[in-house]
Amino acid sequence: MKKLIITVAPTGSKPQKKHTEYVPVTIEEIVTCALRCEDEGASIVHIHARDEDENPSDDPQIFHEIVTRIKERCNLIIQVSTGGRAGTNLESRLQRLQMRPEMASLTTGSVNFPNSAYVNPPDLIEALATEMQRLRIKPEMEIFDLSMINNAIALSDRDLADRPLHFNFVMGLPGAMPAKVEHLVHLYQSLPSDSTWTASGIGAAQLTMNLHAVLMGGHVRVGLEDNIYYKKGELANNDRLVQRVVRLSKELGRDVATPDEARKILRLEPQ
Ligand code: ZN
Repeated sequence: MKKLIITVAPTGSKPQKKHTEYVPVTIEEIVTCALRCEDEGASIVHIHARDEDENPSDDPQIFHEIVTRIKERCNLIIQVSTGGRAGTNLESRLQRLQMRPEMASLTTGSVNFPNSAYVNPPDLIEALATEMQRLRIKPEMEIFDLSMINNAIALSDRDLADRPLHFNFVMGLPGAMPAKVEHLVHLYQSLPSDSTWTASGIGAAQLTMNLHAVLMGGHVRVGLEDNIYYKKGELANNDRLVQRVVRLSKELGRDVATPDEARKILRLEPQ
């Protein structure tokens, strides 16, 4: 089985210091956290930016600072979020791509979040994919339900995304797809055979979905974006979540990929 790629999503849009002191929100906190997670075994860092009040920010300067400082100090693959919570307009999402991260997230459809709708209409998806293709940035297709797999494949059929595609299944978010192994198997079986994939679970589902993915040959995403607890009643920090999945994967006989090994597995282009 190929080595395990661990993505860490340290910040996201939601958790704030009032929820957990361990969430990194300033530029320096996010950069330091990324370095620690690389030391523990992460090979990809998924980046969101926050403003001074810890709210999601679409300020390209903040993204730029975070990406530049991480690049200077470590070898992690940087994956910038193009999610819409921090500004729904296309221009701000496109702007984040201009710093040319190796990867960026691309949600190929619309879905309900617990208290809002996450709307990604076809023209917006197409514009983001076109720009990623132009800048040679590999999209991670964010899959919140089955239709989004078909939409991603349709992009590759139209030469707006290169095969092999890479997918991330987001499971267990209230309002969206439940985190059940039978759904994970069905999603996995719906992919083109040359694809790579990652499983993310929200809340307590993070650990279970991660472990199913380890056993099935997929990859994993951990981090406070999806889950702020180590176990019931005990807050986590990002590096401990990385440490735990490294330890469990090795126990299960699967070694962990370095960033350069992850680049080969994902067929990222040299930059
Ligand atoms: Zn995200």
